[in-house]
Amino acid sequence: MKKCRLCKQDIEDDAKKCDKCGSYQTYLGRFVHIGIPIISVLLALVSWGQTYLENQAKKDAIEGEKEATEIAAVAEEQKEVAYVEREIALKKADQYNEALVQIEEDVNSMKQMNVHFPENLQRLNTITKKIELSREQVRNLDERPVRRPVEE
Ligand SMILES: [Zn+2]
Repeated sequence: MKKCRLCKQDIEDDAKKCDKCGSYQTYLGRFVHIGIPIISVLLALVSWGQTYLENQAKKDAIEGEKEATEIAAVAEEQKEVAYVEREIALKKADQYNEALVQIEEDVNSMKQMNVHFPENLQRLNTITKKIELSREQVRNLDERPVRRPVEE
């Protein structure tokens, strides 16, 4: 006879399981009857966790792609609006440029008339400088690169 590992009651020498408390007497027995079911449950949990994470990642990817597509569509719309606004601005700039040419001609003829009046000439030169500055700004507007939207 030997004593049970758990309840310490007498059991058969070759007993693998205690007939009093039902506990397994060898490590292999305990592993097979207790360890394997626990490991199986843990493996199932891990597998479930992986599937959950994979599904979450897929969901996030789909969500992200949808968001990116929406942002791209808005950007495309804004680009077209920007193009139209630029066309309008360029037309106005052309008109402004024509007006500047007219003013410059007037200023030049006034300069000829005021050859002997330095104070007037100084004022007229100031106007000429302002005209040049405005021309520069109009040129900068014209050179700003904007891609033409694709025609359908
Ligand atoms: Zn026992």
